Amino acid sequence: MNNSLRNEYLKVMGVQQWVAREALDADGAAGAIDSVGTVDGVASLDWPELEKRVSGCTLCGLQESRTRTVFGVGNRDADWLVIGEAPGADEDRQGEPFVGRAGQLLTEMLFAAGLQRDAVYICNILKCRPPGNRNPSMEEVSLCQAYLQRQIELIAPRLILAVGGVAANSLLDMDEKVGQLRGKVHDYGTQKIPVVVTYHPAYLLRSPLEKRKVWKDLQFAQSVCANGQAGYKIT
Ligand code: SF4
Repeated sequence: MNNSLRNEYLKVMGVQQWVAREALDADGAAGAIDSVGTVDGVASLDWPELEKRVSGCTLCGLQESRTRTVFGVGNRDADWLVIGEAPGADEDRQGEPFVGRAGQLLTEMLFAAGLQRDAVYICNILKCRPPGNRNPSMEEVSLCQAYLQRQIELIAPRLILAVGGVAANSLLDMDEKVGQLRGKVHDYGTQKIPVVVTYHPAYLLRSPLEKRKVWKDLQFAQSVCANGQAGYKIT
């Protein structure tokens, strides 16, 4: 990796010095919702089936305003799973999470931490854009959660990086500010996958002085992942 290029990325992040570290069914019909509010049959879908189900999903009202669903992108065998809130306007147009300025900053943050964007898997809590970039409703999160849960099962990451309060609180079933969730290892689901929380890059665009905190969070996430704290692959 070219050092001057790496330093450029760090500069963008505001870090001066660092130490390198190495619901459709098969016929296209909407899936039913079971008694606990999850989508029928999603837990047994493979990647192509899951992607197809999401692309035709009409479970919540966001299907009316979306341009396209935004499933997720990256390495499906990744150690790191990065989870954000919901697609924005650029993502809705392109069908890929974290594009546009916030997405570029996320890519720079990952790169500075020694991770190529395509080495991790990136997705959102919601697969469709809320109009006007409003926060997702609890109902939307609940209806969409089976898709994310299946993605997590299929990837079996060693670490989840939750970016932003909505992603963190939805994953952890909490109601806290990002500042209170940072700096500790949470866990997700029965698999106890380690979760590290940091700020959303869209927030960093508005508050660039907070980039240093994100850099600290990424270093923390690296150490959690490297030390294998509660991280294991689901078979
Ligand atoms: S946000 Fe999720 S539940 Fe709602 S329509 Fe999109 S994919 Fe379906």
